[in-house]
Amino acid sequence: MFENLSERLSGVFDRLTKQGALSEDDVKTALREVRVALLEADVSLPVARDFVKAVQEQATGQAVTKSITPGQQVVKIVHDALIDVLKGEGEPGALKIDNPPAPILMVGLQGGGKTTTTAKLAKRLKEREGKRVLMASLDVNRPAAMEQLAILGQQIGVDTLPIVKGEDPVAITKRAKTQAGLGGYDVYMLDTAGRLSIDEELMQQVEAVRDVVTPRETLLVVDGLTGQDAVHTAENFDERIGISGVVLTRMDGDGRGGAALSMRAVTGKPIKFVGLGEKMDALETFEPERIAGRILGMGDIVALVEKAQETIEAEQAERMMKRMAKGQFNMNDLKMQLEQMIKMGGMQGMMGMMPGMGKMAKQVEDAGLDDKMLKQQIALIQSMTKKERANPQLLQASRKKRIAKGAGMEVSDLNKLMKMHRQMSDMMKKMGKMGKGGMLKQAMK
Ligand code: GDP
Repeated sequence: MFENLSERLSGVFDRLTKQGALSEDDVKTALREVRVALLEADVSLPVARDFVKAVQEQATGQAVTKSITPGQQVVKIVHDALIDVLKGEGEPGALKIDNPPAPILMVGLQGGGKTTTTAKLAKRLKEREGKRVLMASLDVNRPAAMEQLAILGQQIGVDTLPIVKGEDPVAITKRAKTQAGLGGYDVYMLDTAGRLSIDEELMQQVEAVRDVVTPRETLLVVDGLTGQDAVHTAENFDERIGISGVVLTRMDGDGRGGAALSMRAVTGKPIKFVGLGEKMDALETFEPERIAGRILGMGDIVALVEKAQETIEAEQAERMMKRMAKGQFNMNDLKMQLEQMIKMGGMQGMMGMMPGMGKMAKQVEDAGLDDKMLKQQIALIQSMTKKERANPQLLQASRKKRIAKGAGMEVSDLNKLMKMHRQMSDMMKKMGKMGKGGMLKQAMK
């Protein structure tokens, strides 16, 4: 499972972080374990082998940078190598859908999330790109599947091709094509039938449909939890139908980062989107950095370190991280973070990168926190005395009033800020305890 990979890797890095310098033997030992861990995470053998080789080449002869530990350095090298493998060409999530009406063929096995993803993507195209989308279900063997798409269409406000009983998939496709042209649609999406496993009849059917429309994009939807099976499915579909990209679903669960890695390396096709839940909004563009972070099992801590190093003095970042890892997190730290958040693209962007903070990022979004809010919060903290910042529990009602007034805000705003600080410092404490001896601590040492 996914956890094995992260645990194993962090075990390796734990050992490295405890050592003073990075010897060639260290690298070799570490990489041997990385390889085993990758295999256990369902990464195919050739992919794991190539990956380790690439890392070895990069690591060998690299001087250990001052101010970071050898462990950190290897984490970074492994991380960068993961990204190299995961990265496809072009913009992530970009689709070739100019020249309306552009057909998108959705293919995959039954239960992989094809219908759900069709609707999610339609919603995304409609809302983010202002496209007029028509969806059509070709799953004539399962009337329930056709109904499902129609219901989802209603839910998201996207048209579906009316269901005509007794029509075969090719006839439906022709009707969809005509309707898309006549109706002035930008995109029409064909949700092909799925099967429990790949069979000849399914492939012939999809081929016939493909030949009617010449799809601009053929997206394979596969369950990211199925690991190596997902990769085989992708190979099969690509051979027969020719796919232009992959959507990995169920990456919200204990998704195996390994599947993404193999998928990319074996098929050479870009992973365009990932499904992150059952809701219609739970579709995101594939971000190699994020998946690499998950494979490493350190949230996107590497990215966090990188960004921190870019924007603030490395030392300052390290001190902050160390304090965070120890569960020491006062208002000064919060202020510094708020300032950094503004620099780093807002609160959500930052929280999304921290392990265990994904949920809070959502809360932040729901609460409508933005840069303006961040600035107001900084103003509140600035109105506090040094002592109060170090120990916000000290604040009495009368002081709260003064502080809020001083910052031109309400006491309720200050209370919110204090609540957030409390929640964050609890989270930091938990993070500090995470893993053997505190993973964050290890990573930051
Ligand atoms: P299809 O047979 O390939 O069309 O699969 P469906 O679209 O009907 O999806 C099967 C089930 O998986 C449904 O219950 C979906 O809600 C669920 N599902 C689809 N994508 C995701 C995802 O990204 N995450 C989670 N947790 N569930 C998903």
